Amino acid sequence: MKPEKKNEELKIRISGLSNGLHDYRFSADPSAIGLENNFNKPVEVDAHLDKTSRQLYLTVDIRTSAHFECDRSLDEFEQPLTAHFNMFFVYDELEADKYPPDEVHVIAPDTVSLDLTKDIREMVLLSVPLKLLCRENCKGLCPQCGTNWNHESCDCKEEVSDPRWSGLKDLLDK
Ligand SMILES: [Zn+2]
Ligand SMILES: [Zn+2]
Repeated sequence: MKPEKKNEELKIRISGLSNGLHDYRFSADPSAIGLENNFNKPVEVDAHLDKTSRQLYLTVDIRTSAHFECDRSLDEFEQPLTAHFNMFFVYDELEADKYPPDEVHVIAPDTVSLDLTKDIREMVLLSVPLKLLCRENCKGLCPQCGTNWNHESCDCKEEVSDPRWSGLKDLLDK
């Protein structure tokens, strides 16, 4: 099964498509699919479509990366992002009830092509980690002088502070 030529539009033509397995490969410009700011690398998509006369079953793998600022050290870094999702496309609501609501789309019987843009955009956004760290052991900034401990050290006296005790300390300071 050879993937089709790379396509910039995240659309799969289904009208006239034979039943069976079909492979697709896409490479989309992030801004063309509504991903702005942090996103500047192509969004690479591998999709497999299993078509029967009653439904279409799509599996999608997405690879891209985005540029972020570290939550802890403010260092800029590139974060690879991957996502995977499955989607059923069915022709009526009754059939759709068999599947989890976020894994099924109802389409009209005369649908010409499946537009994957919205699903792929959402999956990419969901793949962004909640905590953005430039590296696993990011040392962060010195709370006193702001030195970036990933790159330099500073002479500030290290204050031994354990966040678990800070509440207690606040009480004692009163
Ligand atoms: Zn960092
Ligand atoms: Zn310091």
